[in-house]
Amino acid sequence: MSVDAQWRELGDGVFVRRYAELDLSVGLVVGEERCLVVDTRGDAAQGAELADAVRNVTSLPWTVVLTHDHFDHAYGVQAFLPCDVWAHPACWSELVRVQRVARPGLSVTDRTELDLGGRTVALVHPGVAHTHGDVAVTVPDAGVLFAGDLVERVPGGTFSDESFGPDTVLSAWPAALERLAALGATTVVPGHGEPTGPDLLTRCRTDLEALLDARGRVRDGELTETEAAARTPLPAEVALAALTKPAD
Ligand SMILES: [Zn+2]
Repeated sequence: MSVDAQWRELGDGVFVRRYAELDLSVGLVVGEERCLVVDTRGDAAQGAELADAVRNVTSLPWTVVLTHDHFDHAYGVQAFLPCDVWAHPACWSELVRVQRVARPGLSVTDRTELDLGGRTVALVHPGVAHTHGDVAVTVPDAGVLFAGDLVERVPGGTFSDESFGPDTVLSAWPAALERLAALGATTVVPGHGEPTGPDLLTRCRTDLEALLDARGRVRDGELTETEAAARTPLPAEVALAALTKPAD
């Protein structure tokens, strides 16, 4: 457990909490009647730490949203139960399969608005991308977007080699980021890395388009994977992960 984690207020009642481990960011949005916890960290102990940390901010009842099924975002969910938990159906399938929950909770299939009392947030599935079940959270009155791993920010760049897994759909990812950009947030919180402005959505989309171009050249037999990776703006090991791992 990181000892340096602390809440930072990005807007009125909108907090990010960053952890040194994996440079993970989780979120908290406080309304007048309830609060929304965005992601739950990676295991029971980490989830319990986060639940305690939420209680240091507010005693209001909580609702949880999981941005996707990857362990570092979702496997701490038990610490918050029983409560309403929202996620995409694909995320629920995976969490049931790996026995992190007994049954699916509430489903976000496209866009779901949640009234927290005095403010409404929207849970948005912008299409398949980093996984089949990514959900972002927009807080319109504060201009904040919690984007999960749809965008990431490592020192000096965007994605890492962990960003591209067997369930990543590279070809659909740029369109998902366009949909997020249309939400008009002024602060974007990546799943990993420091919160920043909406330009991160553009930078990530540009990098993904370069990867798609590189992958097209490999598939056309024009370049080897290593040659194609070297032509992208990303470090070679990151580009190779994107060129080799996604299933689409
Ligand atoms: Zn992830």
